[in-house]
Amino acid sequence: MKAAKMRRYASKITDWHLGLRRLNFFLVNSEVRSYHSVLRSSKDDYRHKSVAKMNYATSCVNLSEDPPKEKDNRVSDMLIDSYGRMHTYLRISLTERCNLRCQYCMPAEGVDLTPKPELLSLTEILRLANLFVTSGVYKIRLTGGEPAIRKDIEDVCLHLSNLNGLKTLAMTTNGLTLARKLPKLKECGLTSINISLDTLVPAKFEFLTRRKGHEKVMESINAAIDVGYNPVKVNCVVMRGFNDDEICDFIELTRDRPINIRFIEFMPFDGNVWNVKKLVSYSEMLDRVVKKFPGLRRLQDHPTETAKNFKIDGHCGTVSFITSMTEHFCAGCNRLRLLADGNFKVCLFGPSEVSLRDPLRQHASDDELREIIGAAVKRKKASHAGMFDIAKTANRPMIHIGG
Ligand code: SF4
Repeated sequence: MKAAKMRRYASKITDWHLGLRRLNFFLVNSEVRSYHSVLRSSKDDYRHKSVAKMNYATSCVNLSEDPPKEKDNRVSDMLIDSYGRMHTYLRISLTERCNLRCQYCMPAEGVDLTPKPELLSLTEILRLANLFVTSGVYKIRLTGGEPAIRKDIEDVCLHLSNLNGLKTLAMTTNGLTLARKLPKLKECGLTSINISLDTLVPAKFEFLTRRKGHEKVMESINAAIDVGYNPVKVNCVVMRGFNDDEICDFIELTRDRPINIRFIEFMPFDGNVWNVKKLVSYSEMLDRVVKKFPGLRRLQDHPTETAKNFKIDGHCGTVSFITSMTEHFCAGCNRLRLLADGNFKVCLFGPSEVSLRDPLRQHASDDELREIIGAAVKRKKASHAGMFDIAKTANRPMIHIGG
């Protein structure tokens, strides 16, 4: 029934001509390079065999997701930058591998993957995560690549959710292999889920992601609702000439379902052929939405919130805009990033990174690691450099950073 409803919204889009849009949107579209160089994954060196036998009494489940108050003295100096921002949110990229090849996430020719021995093991991820959580991080988001393709993803969730002090364990996923894993992931302490979906039209999905799978993503959204995630967040990168005509169709999904649709301004990353002409600004999106949904009203946002949140009268779900390009939210930034290769990144758009893996493998103590992390946090800039400078600055492709 739900799937039928979603298909009905999708089928409303009758005047769209795929070939013409392809020309409009990706002038530089080229063949997907084959991934001969991709290293095969092998089992992580830290497999806990006992997950099925363990009690899933986690420290995350059912705890409030409210961020701590501004002057929370549980946040150590290591996490406070020179502008007084408290970094209580850590995004951990669990893998550089992905089962899609989204055009805005990686270049058409693919990316070089880090050899497995140079990636953090689960033991190393847990040690660093523990260090961050005991220093004041209360929220961890798992990213990638595609985090759900890790064979040990349930173990990862179980161990992280048991960290004392962690309130939210979230995951951003493309939803391709998620549906059947969701009940177990929820049991293992995954408290919040964001599923990426940029179009309701299967043919456009295949074009953008260079893979099939639209139906599976829709299934995962339904499965997430069915197992009780509320809201289920759906991330949609809006790109002019590709999916900007679907904004109101996406909003229809919120009418009778606990979906938070999140429209994200198109951002420049290495190799994603960003162009300001493809950017649909927050104000333009808002104009279009208000015309169709006059009952749109702004919700109160927390100072560290990245999204501008709205509700439409009578709708079960909500609508948000992530305005990184036209109205950045750096002043309230509380995010840090740990990449799959162990590099630590204090800003999504800042090119500077410092390795935590190397000192970890040279037997650095927790205090020594804290010193490295604290020094990097103190060097964090007040804000990103602006979209045109970002577009010119060398950074990693999105698939390496994890968004
Ligand atoms: S651009 Fe950097 S400083 Fe600004 S919100 Fe994003 S991560 Fe934070």
